Amino acid sequence: MGTGFVDFHCHLDLYPDHLDLIAECERAGVFTLAVTTTPRAWPHNQELVAESQFVKAGLGLHPQLLPERAAELGVWERFLPAARYVGEVGLDAGPQFSGSFDLQKRVFERVLCCCAEQGGKILSVHSVRAVSAVLDMLERHLPEDRGRVVLHWFTGTAAEARRAIDLGCYFSVNARMVDGKRGRALLALLPSSRLLTETDGPFIEIAGRPARPRDVADTVEVVATAIGLGAQATGDLIRANLDQLLAWK
Ligand code: MN
Repeated sequence: MGTGFVDFHCHLDLYPDHLDLIAECERAGVFTLAVTTTPRAWPHNQELVAESQFVKAGLGLHPQLLPERAAELGVWERFLPAARYVGEVGLDAGPQFSGSFDLQKRVFERVLCCCAEQGGKILSVHSVRAVSAVLDMLERHLPEDRGRVVLHWFTGTAAEARRAIDLGCYFSVNARMVDGKRGRALLALLPSSRLLTETDGPFIEIAGRPARPRDVADTVEVVATAIGLGAQATGDLIRANLDQLLAWK
């Protein structure tokens, strides 16, 4: 059944060949979470993957798009009962976006509370320069039995990683995270049972072109070296982690 690769965070709808990509994931059996940045994009994404065995669509409201899109929180809430996957959501305290940080926190709190209330959601969460704030909010608003969280492109400290692990978080690792020493050292601290892979395409490029879901094969090799397993065993492990996550209700 496919290659067994996992791309748990890819913006498929930002590629000009969105449909071809879905077909490519389907053919190669790459499980792909197609995250969205605005809830208005979700119904179309959901429709395109309706027949897909491997591609799922996430209901998102990206922190970088606030405050312009804050009014779409109501749209996000309206679609939530039909969504199993939520993302991209989270917080961004980078210099360009820190001005909207209070608003981001209000929106993210609402997102987490709605997920907790409905239960059964799997979230892909952005935490650039805001890992502690994200973890504080998860701790306060989303009990572990009410939702599963995958921290996308995690760049926190070792102490923050430990805290995230204790909160039950998974980590989706991309090529950019593991191309430096610091990222690989961090990777070695994460329990292998919580590891997933992602491309974050098209924002990450591989060989001068936007990454495609099948490119997670390269990341699996780097992860394999970092955790001291073979590439095949690491691919199997990540697929098993995904199965475990998806089996959660
Ligand atoms: Mn992203």
